[in-house]
Amino acid sequence: MARVPFVAGNWKMNTTRATAVALADAIAKSAPREVMVGVAPPFVYIDAVVKATTGTNVLVGAQDVYFEKGGAFTGEVSVDMLKDIGAKFCLTGHSERRHVLGESPELVGKKAKAVYDAGLILIHCVGEKLEQRDAGQTLQVVQSQLDELDRTIADPDRLVIAYEPVWAIGTGRNATDAQAQEVHAFIRESLAKMWNTAFADRVRIQYGGSMKPENAAGLMAQTDVDGGLIGGAALKAESFLAILNAAK
Ligand code: PEP
Repeated sequence: MARVPFVAGNWKMNTTRATAVALADAIAKSAPREVMVGVAPPFVYIDAVVKATTGTNVLVGAQDVYFEKGGAFTGEVSVDMLKDIGAKFCLTGHSERRHVLGESPELVGKKAKAVYDAGLILIHCVGEKLEQRDAGQTLQVVQSQLDELDRTIADPDRLVIAYEPVWAIGTGRNATDAQAQEVHAFIRESLAKMWNTAFADRVRIQYGGSMKPENAAGLMAQTDVDGGLIGGAALKAESFLAILNAAK
């Protein structure tokens, strides 16, 4: 079935208020209408980027969130706060949160549930490390990260899986088209078992990991690749727009 591709930029801990607004503005002015477009600025610039993109087809989201509703959680941000400033989606389980900041599968699962339950679009990131791929554990690792998802998730349009092999993130070394398709097909089959086929057919599965203008069209032409989650190449309007156009 036809799934509208979703391409989102993860700006990580980059930009200033001025460059974030300028980047969002440049993307909003030229983004193709056929593609769902998202940008995830650092928390402190979400508000400004929402204002800069109001009335355009660019969705603004967050890179992280905390699962509790509110209270004594110094430094954290809740899903209601994200909604209050106009965020429409949120990532969970990004490899940097898992492997650099040390988030456990249990914490990632709680965050994913909080994002979905709040009515936001959930982009749940999964992906294996190089040693896991080399040990033939890719599908097992990906399955365990899919298992973090709460089975009460009912709206497939608000669940997005980002397959991001850790060895491909920020390294310039992307998965081949075939490697990506193999894991994406596995993810869709797995979602069909966890939910059902109709549900799995609607879920967008993004590829992430050194996607750039030169490899985007090939990766996104794969049957089960429905867009991308872009790091480095999302920080320049020119390269992000080229990827968006490759997704049409
Ligand atoms: C990411 O961090 O989600 C990502 C895919 O980064 P990059 O495109 O830089 O590999």
